[in-house]
Parts: sequence; C-alpha cells; structure tokens
Amino acid sequence: MGLQCGIVGLPNVGKSTLFNALTSAKALAANYPFATKEPNVGVITVPDPRLDKLAEFVNPQRILPTNVDIVDIAGLIKGASKGEGLGNQFLGNIREVDAILHVVRCFDDDNIVHVDGNVDPVRDKEIIDTELIFKDLETVEKRVDKLRKAAKSGEKEAKRIVEIGKIIQEHLENGKPARSVSLPEDGYALLKEMMLLTAKPILYVCNVDMDSVESGNEYTERFKAAVADEKAEVLLISAAIEADIAELDTKEERDEFIAEMGLPEPGVNRVIRSAYSLLKLITYFTAGEKEVRAWTIIEGTKAPGAAGVIHTDFEKGFIRAEVIGYDDYVEYGSEQAVKEAGKLSVEGKEYVVNDGDVMHFRFNV
Ligand code: GDP
Repeated sequence: MGLQCGIVGLPNVGKSTLFNALTSAKALAANYPFATKEPNVGVITVPDPRLDKLAEFVNPQRILPTNVDIVDIAGLIKGASKGEGLGNQFLGNIREVDAILHVVRCFDDDNIVHVDGNVDPVRDKEIIDTELIFKDLETVEKRVDKLRKAAKSGEKEAKRIVEIGKIIQEHLENGKPARSVSLPEDGYALLKEMMLLTAKPILYVCNVDMDSVESGNEYTERFKAAVADEKAEVLLISAAIEADIAELDTKEERDEFIAEMGLPEPGVNRVIRSAYSLLKLITYFTAGEKEVRAWTIIEGTKAPGAAGVIHTDFEKGFIRAEVIGYDDYVEYGSEQAVKEAGKLSVEGKEYVVNDGDVMHFRFNV
C-alpha cells in the first residue's frame, strides 16, 4: 500500500548496512561517504507470529506476510539545506516518506571513517536536525510570505495562516523540530498540509557494537538523555550483526546464531515493529485454503477501505464483511467452529477494522 519509512543519518553511520539487513537486499555498503547515491527502495517483510499460528489451523498452500517499504536515503552532510553534498536530492526524498528512522553511530571502529572526525551521536543528530529545520523554515517562510499581503488587507483565512505560520517559525528558529510544536486546535491541519520534514514521526536507531546491544554504552546514554524531551523511541541495534544474521540462508541457522549471540530475537524485528506502530499501522488477515495472508492498514480504517487494499473492486463493490477476532479464531481453531459458537460477526461499511481481525469480504462488481 506504499507506506514508506526513510532511513536517514550522516554518511558512514551504518544506514545501508541496516537497510540491507531489513530488506536482505544488497545495497552497496562501503567505507566511504556517499556509498548510497540513489535512494534505494526496499521491501520489509513484517514478521508476525499470528500469521504462522493461523496457517497452522488452515494449512494453506501459501503463507504471505505483509510489507512496508523502506527507503535508504543518500547521505546528508552539514550544509545540505544549502545544496551541499547530495543535499537537495536528499531532502526531496525525505519529503516523500511517512516516517523517519534516524540512525546514529554509537560504535567505535578506527577503520570506519567518521565524516566529522570522531564519534558523537548527539552532535551528529543535531547536524541532521539543523539541516531539516533550515529546510522547514524555508518552506514556512515561503508560505507565510505569499499570504502576508492578503493578511494585511484583512483576509481572514490568510491572516490565520500567517499567525499559525509564525508560531511554527519561532519554534523552528529555536532549533526545535516541528513535531513538538504546540498549536491552537485549528493549526494542525495547516501543519500537516505544509509537509514539513521535522513534523514526520521519528524513530531513533543507535547503531552499537555487539557488546552494547543489551545494555547500551556511553554514547547511547548521552544520546538518550539528549532526546529525552522528544518522547521518541530509541532502539539499540548492531547493524553489523543484523547484516550477518541476514546473510544466513535458513531460519534454523539464523535462530542458532541469534541464540549464540544471546539475543532474544533479531534486532530488525524490533525495528520493524516499532516502525509499524510509529506509522500507526495494524494488520488484518485473510485465511483460506489457497493462502493465509496478512494485510497492512492504517489504524481506524473501515471495512471497505481494508477490502480496497486487496483490490479496488472489493472496495467499490463492498457489501459486507464477515469478521472473526484473532483470539476467537485461535480459541475455536477453525472458521466453522467459530461460526457454530456464534462468534463470527457480519459487519457493514462503518465497521472499523481491529488489529488481528480475520476477514472475509462479500462484494459485487
Ligand atoms: P551509511 O553510509 O550510513 O549507509 O553506512 P554503511 O552502512 O555503508 O556503513 C559504513 C561502514 O561502517 C561499512 O564499512 C560498514 O561495514 C560499517 N558498519 C556498519 N555498521 C557497523 C557496526 O555496527 N559496527 C561496525 N564495526 N561497523 C559497522
């Protein structure tokens, strides 16, 4: 359904490595800045144990997990908002994503060049923030400038936009991302419409060495303290280990390696789960003998919209949905048994789909 997460961060912090691990695609990871020149779009498979559980009951011909797109965005350096490096291209790519994974380097390795000389995730994040904030200021100023005349001559709508624009502008000028601005009730629609880079939901990923995945290190402690007021999630991942895990061919090999490392699960699973909840995504299932499949929708989507993810005809011709809650399916073990227990509900156009619903759509084309 084209929901996209973008990976950002300074060059050489491990973005491509993480991207590879997340998608198991082979983007070029190299020890020099700008290894990733074109934005790489990959597909992340969303791991979901519920899907396997349903498949156990149904025993289908195939099992299809759901996906989220990920974009590895080419390296940003100081001055990007003024067009340095691959600046403008980079910022344009960010504008298109729905959420941001901001990777910071929290590992020491003398062999890996740091573009600014030494490892300092707090400074690195500020460099990126500054560039994004500059770009946002430009966007807001342009918007406000255009309307200033109309506002002066008393046009109500223009006046209001200028007022709200000024609040956002001041907030940005104080070095703060737009996502943390407080606005009057009617201001948020305008904020959304401006599509500011720093208004997008964000997840921080500290790329650490193997020994720091569980307990963190000095860098991650400082980083967490520095972002505490953003209320954003901070994940500790070792991109290098994740890349090693992704290289292994079979699930057995991967499980064994993960156990040897003393990790509870692959770190990429945590990243995917967090990105999923950051985007406010939920999953519903379809379960038949041909396939058991997971589908992604945004929280709050109604039944016809959910059907439309499968096929636009399903949405256009939507008649009704037969719905089984995931827990009921597991409790009774089959659609038939659920029906007999009276736990299958027939829902109409206004039904808001729940995470885990097992759905059948009736439609007419
Ligand atoms: P990008 O420029 O941010 O995309 O960075 P890359 O993913 O290309 O990584 C830059 C270099 O750092 C590569 O040589 C990677 O192998 C290395 N690297 C990435 N993650 C880690 C890590 O967790 N530990 C160590 N020691 N090296 C890493």
